Amino acid sequence: ATPTAVMVGTGVGATQGVLIKGGQALESAHKVNCIVFDKTGTLTVGKPVVVTTKLFKKMSIKDFYEFTAAAEVNSEHPIAKAIVEHAKKITEEQNHSWPEAHNFVSVSGHGVKAIVLNKDILVGNKKMMLDHNITISADAEEILAEAESLAQTGILVSLDGEVAGVLAVSDPLKPGANEVISILNSMKIKSIMVTGDNWGTANSIARQAGIETVIAEAQPETKATKIKELQLGQASGYTVAMVGDGINDSPALVAADVGMAIGAGTDIAIEAADIVLMKSNLEDIIIAIDLANKTFSRIR
Ligand code: ADP
Ligand code: MG
Repeated sequence: ATPTAVMVGTGVGATQGVLIKGGQALESAHKVNCIVFDKTGTLTVGKPVVVTTKLFKKMSIKDFYEFTAAAEVNSEHPIAKAIVEHAKKITEEQNHSWPEAHNFVSVSGHGVKAIVLNKDILVGNKKMMLDHNITISADAEEILAEAESLAQTGILVSLDGEVAGVLAVSDPLKPGANEVISILNSMKIKSIMVTGDNWGTANSIARQAGIETVIAEAQPETKATKIKELQLGQASGYTVAMVGDGINDSPALVAADVGMAIGAGTDIAIEAADIVLMKSNLEDIIIAIDLANKTFSRIR
């Protein structure tokens, strides 16, 4: 394409809230035949809410959330925010001050740990518990499985080495996500979902979105490695776009031929991306590719 055509293309994108950072991004978008989607905040709304709580110890739900929120208030994770919001409702106080958390540690992709009111507390997924030698009872397993089948994420809370409760958070699919995937299918573009969340929840969400290929329980480095495999793996190799919103997506956004960031996402993801979907709509992925196709077919 001529420099003028590229300027027109990026200009049209800008008016539609699709920020294209230069001609190379547009050219790569024209060649894309595989799109890797992050789950949380990209395919899903990204504002999880706590929907159920099940206690396994003799304690009040207020006390349970007092401990849990005290640990999670130190985390930036959307699940942590959901838990703190829910805890405020349980305590019936918007400005409740939580007990102090000591020795707070955030374990990326697994959860958080701290000492609250002299008790060791862990909040996180199964891996978090197993890594700390905490036994998960059959009852707790059952509740986790049920949450996963409903496309919810189950979170375990342990106090002094024993599971005190399980809570489930729900983060629904963005409206229209399913349609975007089916349009991409018709454009012969393969869709893949990659997430740090567990396999059960990931498969449920993928089914709702109409995505057949899923990679779950992925660390940030795994997301980037997967992109590289897709680029090199096949006989011809895929030209890969990655769509994501989180800090943990940025290595993959950089590794992809085209990184697309959700506008509502973290600054780090936006910086790492080649294209920014300012309105955070998945439909704008199609707009970006259409624009790239128009720009690069003019010279053929
Ligand atoms: P995603 O790719 O879905 O953004 P992450 O890698 O951030 O996933 O997290 C993976 C999983 O680790 C979450 O689904 C959750 O089970 C657990 N987790 C991470 N951070 C926290 C936290 N602050 N509190 C509880 N669980 C957490
Ligand atoms: Mg995300």
